[in-house]
Amino acid sequence: MIYPWQTDDWQRLQQLRSHWPHALLLHGQAGIGKLQFAQHLAKGLLCESPQANGEPCGACAACHWFEQGNHPDYRIVVPEALAGEIGPAGEDDAKAEKADKGEGEEGKKGRAPSKEIRIEQVRALLDFTSVGSHRGGLRVVVLYPAEALNVAAANALLKTLEEPPAGVVFLVVSARIDRLLPTIISRCRQWPMGTPAPEAATAWLAQQGVDDAPALLAESGGAPLAALALASDANRTLRDWTLAQLAAGPSCDAFACGETLQKLPVPLVLGWLQRWVYDLLAERTAGRPRYFPQAGAGLARCAAKLDAAALARYMKTVTRQRAVENHPLNARLVFEELFLGYRELFA
Ligand SMILES: [Zn+2]
Repeated sequence: MIYPWQTDDWQRLQQLRSHWPHALLLHGQAGIGKLQFAQHLAKGLLCESPQANGEPCGACAACHWFEQGNHPDYRIVVPEALAGEIGPAGEDDAKAEKADKGEGEEGKKGRAPSKEIRIEQVRALLDFTSVGSHRGGLRVVVLYPAEALNVAAANALLKTLEEPPAGVVFLVVSARIDRLLPTIISRCRQWPMGTPAPEAATAWLAQQGVDDAPALLAESGGAPLAALALASDANRTLRDWTLAQLAAGPSCDAFACGETLQKLPVPLVLGWLQRWVYDLLAERTAGRPRYFPQAGAGLARCAAKLDAAALARYMKTVTRQRAVENHPLNARLVFEELFLGYRELFA
């Protein structure tokens, strides 16, 4: 299934069907459904009696295997950390790989699952692409997200893209095309995917039973799947608490922030902070927040008291911190320091 806002992309892509590129780079904002689109595209390419518009039939052996996650001519490559979320195919791959390396459940306890696509995964892919098709049709590889390829893995993949095996189609998915090797980008046919119009996204969210769709959508930069994830986010209470602290301006309790938020992932909290500061800047320049319109009153109150240059400097501090957010950090200290810095803006 593709999302309603993707039908135009789907139809335009079908025009490539007679001379399908060996590597397609689907890129666009996170949370707009690029991965699901790529998976559906893969299913359509593997289907043995597709409809005229390229839709998989859903009834043939290939479709059945695809749904079960065991089509022999299909691979999905994701970082280990994502394998559980992706569905049967990704999960099996990661499990098989762990078994290969003699890491069963015990191995899993020892270290956090990797957030990178590692060279072993790309090498396993090369084995897959070097044998022929099981069903006599295409072989399809979905790679997600391409920005997770570490340097060694990216270089290994590049070799394959430079000399593409016949009958193999790569569907490369990325939300951060700026982080890909230019040589990888240039080996792919680029396919930018747009963020849906707010009306389409809001209507879809309403169908999913989300009641405050406009606010969530604004916070997610217009990305509907990200908004849906927020709607069911157990951390929303803490997020609202944090926004209230930020809205308190000079009364923001930096130590309470450190204490209360220390168990949360650093990138999550920095994301809130960064969007809040962005909104303060937007409030000052355009009089209109982008991410937290529901906190408009607090934003306006704070923005009126702030010095624009100091705020811009503070934004840089937050951005710098985001650059190292995946390193092991003492979350409590990081938060305390940032929230203290925020309070000082009002001094
Ligand atoms: Zn089919």
